[in-house]
Amino acid sequence: MPLPNQDPALRPNWSEGPRVLLLPGKSRLFYNRHPWVFPGAISGVQGSPSDGSVVALLSHTSKFVGWGLFNSKSKVRVRVYSWNPAEPPAEALFRKRIREAVALRCSLGMLGADTGCRLINSEADFISGLTVDQYGSWLVMQISSLGMGQREEELARWIREEIDSCPDTDFRPKGIVVRHEKSMSRLEGLEGGDRLIWGENPPDRVEYLEEGIRLLAQPLAGQKTGAYLDQRINRKEVGKLCKNKSVLDAFCYAGGFGLQAARQGATRIVGIDQSETALALAQNHAEMNGLAERMEWVRADVFEELARREEAGESFDVVILDPPKFAQAKSALEEALRGYRRLYTLGMRLTSPGGILVLCCCTGLINWEMLENLVEQVGAEERLNVRILHKKGPSPDHPVAASCRESSYLKCIVLQIAR
Ligand code: SAH
Repeated sequence: MPLPNQDPALRPNWSEGPRVLLLPGKSRLFYNRHPWVFPGAISGVQGSPSDGSVVALLSHTSKFVGWGLFNSKSKVRVRVYSWNPAEPPAEALFRKRIREAVALRCSLGMLGADTGCRLINSEADFISGLTVDQYGSWLVMQISSLGMGQREEELARWIREEIDSCPDTDFRPKGIVVRHEKSMSRLEGLEGGDRLIWGENPPDRVEYLEEGIRLLAQPLAGQKTGAYLDQRINRKEVGKLCKNKSVLDAFCYAGGFGLQAARQGATRIVGIDQSETALALAQNHAEMNGLAERMEWVRADVFEELARREEAGESFDVVILDPPKFAQAKSALEEALRGYRRLYTLGMRLTSPGGILVLCCCTGLINWEMLENLVEQVGAEERLNVRILHKKGPSPDHPVAASCRESSYLKCIVLQIAR
């Protein structure tokens, strides 16, 4: 697809192309490198940019703030990609961003020929609207902005070429698929289905290695881009606490936490999820890794199943609760907090004296303080001594830009529960 507008790299400077002017007092956030410009910050648009095209973002006194991509249909009217007047969002800049993203994962030791790794994390790699995950030999590009959608062919090529010329990894992609985040497609005016964009079609299930566990991802069919890579290091760290222990893995999906627990010596693991497909995959994973004997999968609603087990007087040495997001919007926050409270109460009751309770929360609207307050309150109600052992975020291949902390969501808190 031809790119809209002229290539800004060919323009001598920002003063000649379309521009978006900010209101007085609104520039600071963007000088501070926040990437999302909402209509409320904008005083006017000059030069009628088409959707997806390059614009210069200027202060109310016409000083250069950054380069962005425009979208009149989106609430994010401009996504900013560069704060350097000499680096407009064109091939050279995107290649540099991609190169830096790949180099970071290499230096973290998280990218290899057979790993599962987040290569590009949208705002956190300064490419708003583009997420790229690696599963073994395949890459999954997830597009969530119109500007990135219009450039997806080029981006796929740049990503492939930058990886192929990177000396620090033996990973060489065989194929790249592209997916369009459904909820964002509507908000951004994005079109196009999920498809192979380059190379060989992936098999229905792609095998990859996560910290010693063999796993399968479905690049074109699974939840998110196929798995939940953000918990990779947390699974490994929690697994270390499970040697010779009984483990309850609630909201287990394909078995992520439970499999690490089993690998690191847990004696018995019960995984609970409501999705039959997820549990079939979990069983498959257990068998592939020779761990099936110690693992049991239960299809149920976690709230009901935990209540039932609590009434029956069961307990586990390690209890892991990794529910989905409970609130999308502020209006749903109260109800979400009630859900977490109920869940944490059940979790504490099911944890053996001296045992470990792992609480994960991927609701971005709930911050660490709210989470810890909740833990404190539920612990007091249950008359327990609760200690915080670790507080963890997502794995470092899912960094958070300091200038865009709204994109931070995952919290994982490891507690010890004593009577
Ligand atoms: N712990 C997993 C990821 C969990 S994702 C990992 O490490 O990979 C959240 C999971 O919760 C999904 O698999 C979804 O099917 C399941 N789920 C959501 N609500 C549920 C409920 N009320 N009862 C049981 N499972 C639920």
